[in-house]
Amino acid sequence: MPDDPLLPEEAEPPGATPAPFSHNKHLPDKFSYWHDWRWQMAHRIKTVEELSKFLFLTPSEIMALKESRLPMSITPYYARLLDPVNDRDPLRRTVVPTLKENTIHFGEEKDPLSEERDTPVEGLVHRYPDRVLLLATNGCATYCRYCTRSRLVGKEKRDTVKPTQWGKALDYIRAHREIRDVLVSGGDPLTLSDAKLGWLLQQIRQIPHVEIIRIGTKVPIVLPQRITPHLVKLLRRFHPLFMSIHVTHPRELTEEVSLALNRLADSGIPLGSQTVLLKNINDDVDTIKQLMQGLLKMRVRPYYLYQCDPILGSAHFRTPVSKGLEIIKGLRGFTSGYAVPHYVIDAPGGGGKIPLLPEYVVGREGNYLILRNYEGKTFVYPDYL
Ligand SMILES: *Cc1c(COP(=O)(O)O)cnc(C)c1O
Repeated sequence: MPDDPLLPEEAEPPGATPAPFSHNKHLPDKFSYWHDWRWQMAHRIKTVEELSKFLFLTPSEIMALKESRLPMSITPYYARLLDPVNDRDPLRRTVVPTLKENTIHFGEEKDPLSEERDTPVEGLVHRYPDRVLLLATNGCATYCRYCTRSRLVGKEKRDTVKPTQWGKALDYIRAHREIRDVLVSGGDPLTLSDAKLGWLLQQIRQIPHVEIIRIGTKVPIVLPQRITPHLVKLLRRFHPLFMSIHVTHPRELTEEVSLALNRLADSGIPLGSQTVLLKNINDDVDTIKQLMQGLLKMRVRPYYLYQCDPILGSAHFRTPVSKGLEIIKGLRGFTSGYAVPHYVIDAPGGGGKIPLLPEYVVGREGNYLILRNYEGKTFVYPDYL
């Protein structure tokens, strides 16, 4: 088992002068640590002092940063996408804490999806008949304030899922022949070194009844530098391998992200997206449409649009369900069917993902089903019972 790759001494190239927080046009790329994912990981922004170099912080943000339940961590790359003056900037709100996180609302829970209950061995959630979720690490490159697994993630120093614990999860998968699909998530598995990730994927691939492997990650969006030629060469050894990419807003689709996603797609990895519907961040038809169309251009097929899970202190992120339905209604028919994700609620109590659709069936008249199309026009279809 290789050593922990994310130790600062390894992350910082020896003898390196600290890279500037901006691209230096006068330096060729190979001299710029900005493009080095380990440099980005080692220089993640975690304190008021560091974040103040990027943003004019509000008093609420400063106070929240000092006492937030879920730690803050932002890659320098992502920090540069945030609006330095407007504290209502959607990207800023997804990663910089506010005091609203301290208010617990009705129905919110630490583990709303009851994942703990469906955890037969540490680091593995077995909820559905034929597939499992393997939590490979508790670490992420950047922490989302609305994280479903905020009870687990961010504790990088203590209580971390360690590779030594993968053994139990792997044994479980080996022993359960009904498991044909393994979803490797966390935390973010792409924060692991190539060596560790390769070891884990190889162990999973060697299990004969595992048909497909999926990786759930936000790394291509918050740390696109991680998608190196070496990584994609490694990943393509484990086909069929899919990837679900967490993405929130069209402004995240930068040139760096485009390069990373193209590299993944060129390696034959089918790419899907997962987006959490977030109030005042991406909760309108235009924003979601732009995001989904932008993803398709980068060969990512929109997969899920999630209603925001009721984790502790998340009410300010949650929209009513009617908003999600309105967005789906505004997509279907108005743009490519490929651009329409499944809108789902991950049911509190561990019920799994439940799909929600606007109502297109108006009713029935004898042998005719009355339907409404995307424009609101009515049609009848002969449907004999
Ligand atoms: C979302 C999820 C999966 C995968 O579900 P799909 O609908 O197949 O993408 C598997 N296990 C758990 C626990 C999940 O939350």
